[in-house]
Amino acid sequence: MSTTLMTKPEEEKKLIQQAYRRLLRSVKTKTDEDRKRIRMAYEMAVEAHKKQRRKSGEPYILHPIEVARICAMEMGLGKTAVISALLHDVVEDTDVTIEEIRELFGERIGMIVEALTKFDGLYDVASPQAETFKKILVTLATDVRAVMVKMADRLHNMRTLGSMPSHKQIKIASETAYIYAPLAHRLGLYKLKTEFDDLCMRITEPERYQEVEQKLKDSESQRSRYVTEFMKPIRKSIGEMNIKFRISGRAKSIFSISNKMKKKQVEFEQIYDLFAIRIIIDVPLPTEKSACWQIYSIITDNYKPIPERLKDWVSTPKANGYESLHTTVVGPRGRFVEVQVRSERMDEIAERGLAAHWKYKGASSSESVLDRWLNHVREMLESPEEDAVDFLNDFRTNLFADEVYVFTPKGDMRILPQGSTALDFAFDIHTEIGYHCMGIRANERQVPISYKIQHGDRLEVMTSKNQKPNESWLQIVVTGKAKSRIRQALKEEKKQQGEIGKEYLMRKMKNLKADFNSDNIDLLLKFYEVKSNIDLYYGIAMEQLQLGRLKELNVEHGKFSIPQEEKVVNRQIRPASKSQSQQGEAQPHLTINGEDAKQFAHSLATCCKPVQGDKIFAYTTITDGVKIHRNNCPNAKNLLSKYGYRVMKAEWVTSFNTSFVADLELTGIDDIGVVQRLTNVLTNVLRVNMRSISMDGNEGYFKGKISVVVNNTDQLNFIIKNLREQEFIASVTRIE
Ligand code: MN
Repeated sequence: MSTTLMTKPEEEKKLIQQAYRRLLRSVKTKTDEDRKRIRMAYEMAVEAHKKQRRKSGEPYILHPIEVARICAMEMGLGKTAVISALLHDVVEDTDVTIEEIRELFGERIGMIVEALTKFDGLYDVASPQAETFKKILVTLATDVRAVMVKMADRLHNMRTLGSMPSHKQIKIASETAYIYAPLAHRLGLYKLKTEFDDLCMRITEPERYQEVEQKLKDSESQRSRYVTEFMKPIRKSIGEMNIKFRISGRAKSIFSISNKMKKKQVEFEQIYDLFAIRIIIDVPLPTEKSACWQIYSIITDNYKPIPERLKDWVSTPKANGYESLHTTVVGPRGRFVEVQVRSERMDEIAERGLAAHWKYKGASSSESVLDRWLNHVREMLESPEEDAVDFLNDFRTNLFADEVYVFTPKGDMRILPQGSTALDFAFDIHTEIGYHCMGIRANERQVPISYKIQHGDRLEVMTSKNQKPNESWLQIVVTGKAKSRIRQALKEEKKQQGEIGKEYLMRKMKNLKADFNSDNIDLLLKFYEVKSNIDLYYGIAMEQLQLGRLKELNVEHGKFSIPQEEKVVNRQIRPASKSQSQQGEAQPHLTINGEDAKQFAHSLATCCKPVQGDKIFAYTTITDGVKIHRNNCPNAKNLLSKYGYRVMKAEWVTSFNTSFVADLELTGIDDIGVVQRLTNVLTNVLRVNMRSISMDGNEGYFKGKISVVVNNTDQLNFIIKNLREQEFIASVTRIE
């Protein structure tokens, strides 16, 4: 029988089995029993997903297998995570229930899979991402492995994003950059964080990504020659120490290089620290620290160190557990070189974060640091009624931030996120102390409650019974705890003050013969444009809402209704007034979700000012119609990740009689008449219409901003290119 030609199903079957064998090899320690259980999970997943395919067309089962492999191989997780990963999409897509999984695989795995199922709302357009993220964190507080599997899931989705439509790619990438990358960083998963960043950049800034990637490739051999030259004298001395060690001279991530280029406004060739040299030593735990410093001493015997750049995270690890000794020295030919010294154990923690922590439990103080962080997470989750978007904002400022250590008058240490104010400290001590905080003394001196606390401050809170929170306090505090407590207090206060407003309203409605019921109240919320009953009663009590206006409403059989004309007027005014933002210029031609954009009240976002030819997306605002943003708009990341469900696809319809305003930033040599020369080039040579120009000179250099009117990105790029060629101009960048 000839089997040279396999049919497609056979081929796929082989592919799946190969993937499974690769997964099995990546699970390090396993008993026969573990093997059996992994096999059982695998078979359950195969059966569950047998009819499904991914967007790319390949069998769906390859996804959970790969997620499981990432958990084992790249994150160093064990069999529990592997089994959970294999099952992570099973309940969502089939009749298999959580109960069955619990019965077969036990309580722990059942819980993790349940958590993963609950928050897998990634492609569910109806569920706001902030809500999803909150759910992720609830799980984080129960079992960190669930979050790790979720991150592996996200990583695989990001790696295989190519087959998704582009607006979905951007949405997913933004969410990743906004939530998953910082979370990975906070959990000490540096490798993962770096890959997330790079994958996101490949989607949001493809040209720039490819440019840096190519240049890195081209300069690779030059780099490795330099590392060899640098290490030559050092290698010998370390060899004499008689320890095992290895060296890596890996380039920094494309994302971080590109960031540096943007921040410093320099070209790739001008970045001196494209790579860091890492010396990883293999020594027993008790001698780690002294061995690291010995290596440091060898390096600085050969090259001159820059003292400010010494970072000792060996003696005091970072809050996320990172341990390493960093220094920057002047290497051959005067180049600055960053050198990182660490042990194999420290390296594994840096690469794998949490998973490695468990392995080395008790080896360093970092475990308690992480535990403390997880306690913070739990604490933040304690106010479940809080709005998910508020929560996400608080979370980002609190738990991704660095920490500051301060002391109570008794000498107890309190740890707060960097940027916290004296008022945050008061709430951290106790809610009641926060509520009645009158003033604060820092190091024996009176400071405003908005004072940003510093490392080592000794803080004392003064309270008064008559003091209570007010609206402005929300602007002062940064910690989630203080914010949610203040919001709660304000709500309570509003409710009390609103009681009287409620009474006024009831009386007035009685006079008008309208029933006091929830239908009528809901209509009043719309009529007065307020969000809640509390706001309604409060507004009436404070006379911000006029009860007299109720006469404008119709009452029929005790039921309020808004007169017809009123509705029409309201609707007409809005789109008309909003579409004027193009001021005289012809409206751009666009499609939104494939349909003519004219049906939507839409306008170009003023933050990033898209120009015909830019990659764009549409975003539905609550009050201002649809806004068109550039894909790389700095605000986009925030919008997309929090309100991804409001995003629509947008495309230009090429037209030649539409103009756009684009802003450019220029730097160059400040000379007499620079403005005139620039104006001359633009108007007489390039024949461009200029909207505004502003220049700021200082020490022979100028920095300026010009707004030009263009038809499309081709014309804009032509202008940028020509300006760059002028000898008095050093750089031209489009403002993002
Ligand atoms: Mn998945």
